[in-house]
Amino acid sequence: MFTLLTNKIETPTCPRCEEAEETWDHIWTCNQNEFNIKDVIENTIIEIEKNYITKGQSHETEENNIQQNDDDVLKIIFENIETFNELKVEFVLFLDNKSVILPNKKRYWELLRGIYNKNLNNLGKNKKGSKAITRKLWELCYDNMKKEIWHKRIERTIEIEKAEGITKGDKRKRKREDKTEKNQETTTKKQKHNKNIENIKKQEQRQIIKLVTYERSIGRSLDTGRKDERWNTIQKLIPLDK
Ligand SMILES: [Zn+2]
Repeated sequence: MFTLLTNKIETPTCPRCEEAEETWDHIWTCNQNEFNIKDVIENTIIEIEKNYITKGQSHETEENNIQQNDDDVLKIIFENIETFNELKVEFVLFLDNKSVILPNKKRYWELLRGIYNKNLNNLGKNKKGSKAITRKLWELCYDNMKKEIWHKRIERTIEIEKAEGITKGDKRKRKREDKTEKNQETTTKKQKHNKNIENIKKQEQRQIIKLVTYERSIGRSLDTGRKDERWNTIQKLIPLDK
């Protein structure tokens, strides 16, 4: 059902940060990633909640044609929003636990490998639609990992390779203009360095925003709007590290 993301890597050094070998692990943890793994999981949940709220509003205005596709995908969740509200926290905590099959890894690394941990089926026990909702949540997270980390890595790598390719071409054309060429190279490197710093800054900012958004997202029940009593306990249980 899902295509496994393979770990065939041609470049030994990560072209994005130039700080580490571009191993399977590094691809997902590179400081040049716009989002880290946990961001993607949390954002997936936040997105679903946003859709749910939008859906409620668009029903009143009858402008829900555009949302139709999302509705179909999220139908199982929208129809059992109470189950989802309870499940989402369990889901995040479950994935944040140590993996049994992958040494020294948390369970979200299983998800990255396309492994569906069968214990996920026990989440939200006895609640209506819990199994289907967990499955859907897992699928959406998996797709978003590909979209937000994997695909962006590929795009950025191509960008870098293109930029470096142009530099090489210039070298051949302008053999006599050594000075200009050197200046150009320095500029490219500088630009790249600045871009890297920019991305790190973005990441740091996002950590702060994430804390606020996530608190809102799991701290409050969507159907009642009431504050979830368990939030204080939950907050301590979730290490919001990178
Ligand atoms: Zn890197």
